[in-house]
Amino acid sequence: MIVTNQVLEPDILIVGSGIAGAALACAIRGRGYNVVLVERSVQPPDTARGDHLQPYSVALLENWGVLEDFLAAGAERRLGTIYLSEEQEIILSAPLERLEIPHPYYLYLNHDVIGSVLLKKAGDDKNFTLLRPATASGFSFDNERMRSVNVSLPDDTVVEVRAHLVVGADGRNSRVCHAAGIPARTHKYPRPLVAMFGPHPLPDPRNEVLSFLGNDKITVCIPRIGGIAKIGFTLDPSEIPFWRNSTVEQRREAVAQRVPCLAGYESELAGFFPVIQVTTTAYTHGNVVLLGDAAHAMHPARGQGMNVALRGIERLIDCLPSPRMIADPVQLHAALQRYDAMQKQANTRLLEDNHARARENVGALRAYLGKVAGDQRLTARYVRETTGYSPEPERNLV
Ligand SMILES: Cc1cc2nc3c(=O)[nH]c(=O)nc-3n(C[C@H](O)[C@H](O)[C@H](O)COP(=O)(O)OP(=O)(O)OC[C@H]3O[C@@H](n4cnc5c(N)ncnc54)[C@H](O)[C@@H]3O)c2cc1C
Repeated sequence: MIVTNQVLEPDILIVGSGIAGAALACAIRGRGYNVVLVERSVQPPDTARGDHLQPYSVALLENWGVLEDFLAAGAERRLGTIYLSEEQEIILSAPLERLEIPHPYYLYLNHDVIGSVLLKKAGDDKNFTLLRPATASGFSFDNERMRSVNVSLPDDTVVEVRAHLVVGADGRNSRVCHAAGIPARTHKYPRPLVAMFGPHPLPDPRNEVLSFLGNDKITVCIPRIGGIAKIGFTLDPSEIPFWRNSTVEQRREAVAQRVPCLAGYESELAGFFPVIQVTTTAYTHGNVVLLGDAAHAMHPARGQGMNVALRGIERLIDCLPSPRMIADPVQLHAALQRYDAMQKQANTRLLEDNHARARENVGALRAYLGKVAGDQRLTARYVRETTGYSPEPERNLV
C-alpha cells in the first residue's frame, strides 16, 4: 500500500542529480533558498560522459566557490586541441594560452567525480535536503502551476513536495518536461558512440585532445585524469557486436588500423552511447523550468552538453526572485520568462550548429577547420564554441 506520510514545502525542488541538478544545488547554496533535490538512482552517473569543462565553466566553478574542490579531487588542466590527419599532419592546432581570459585552459575530471564534488558542496548549506534514492513519480497541477510532486521512496512511502519552483534536471527523457506539457522534439542520430579507456598511448604534458580526421571517420583521443585516455568514435550499429565481444588485443588492432599512431593502446570498453538530440519549444512552463539534457540534449561530438547546462544555471540564478519573493507567482513567472528568453537566444544557434556539425561529412569538417586559423570571423566562432565565452562582453567574466 502506498502511504503519503510527509509533506515538504521547499522554495525549490530539483528533480535529478546529474551534473545539471547537482550544479544548480551547488551554485545556489548559501543564498537563502530552501532546496530539496531528489535522485532516483543510487549509482553515480556514468563515468564516460562529459568530463571536460570549458574555460568559461572553470570561471563559473570559481564564482560558485567550488574550483578548489575540483582541484583537490584531482582535476587536471588541458591546454588545447589538435586536429590531425590520420598520418599526423596538423589541420588545426588550437592552444588556449594566448586568450585573454581568466582561465585559459580546460579542466577535466571523470564525470561521476564532477557530480559528487558538486553534490558534496551543495551539502554545505543547512537548507539543502537530498532524497536519494527517491523518484519523482506523480505531478499535480493547479492553474498551470505544478502544485505538488509525489516522490516515491524505496519503502513504498511517498513524500509530497510542494515547491514554489520545480526544476526538471531529469535528463533527456524528462518526466517533468512531459508532465508540464512542454513539447519536445527528438532526433536520433543513426551512429551511436563507442568509448574505451586505457593508458594514454601518446602521453603529452599539455594534455591536449587529439582529434584524428580520416577520409570518412573521426577518432578522438581525450585525456582523463591519471594518465588515462578515452578513445571514442561513432560506428555503424552493425559493428556493436564486434566491439562488445572484443578482446584487448582485438581492440588494440582495430584502433591501430583506424589511426596507426595510436598503436599499442590497451583498453577496456567504457560503453556504447545512443546519440539523441532533444529540443524543447520552451524551457519553462508555469512554475517549472527545465535544465540540462531535459531541455536540450545534444550530440556530444563537440563536448558542449554539460557546459551549456552550467551556463544555463548561471542565467537562471541571475533571474530568480530573492528567497523572500520566490513565493510570489507573478514575480516568479516574470523571472522564468526572462530566463527562457535569454536561454533560448543563447542556445538556438548553438543547437542548430551542433546538429549540423554532427551530420556533416568529415571532408566538410576538415575544410572548415583548415580555414579557421586564417579567418578572423571563423577564429572568433571557434573560440566562442570551445571556450564558452560569448561575443557579448557583458556576459563574460573577464
Ligand atoms: C559519451 C559522452 C560524452 C560526452 N562528453 C561531453 C563533454 O566532453 N562535454 C560536455 O559538455 N558534455 C558532454 N556530454 C554530454 C553531457 O554528459 C550531458 O549533457 C550532461 O551530463 C547531462 O547532464 P544532466 O544532469 O542534464 O542529465 P543526466 O546526466 O541525464 O541526469 C539526469 C538525472 O536525473 C535522474 N532522474 C531522472 N528521472 C528522475 C525522476 N523521475 N526522479 C528522480 N530522479 C530522476 C537520473 O537518474 C539522472 O541522475 C557527453 C555525453 C556522452 C554520452
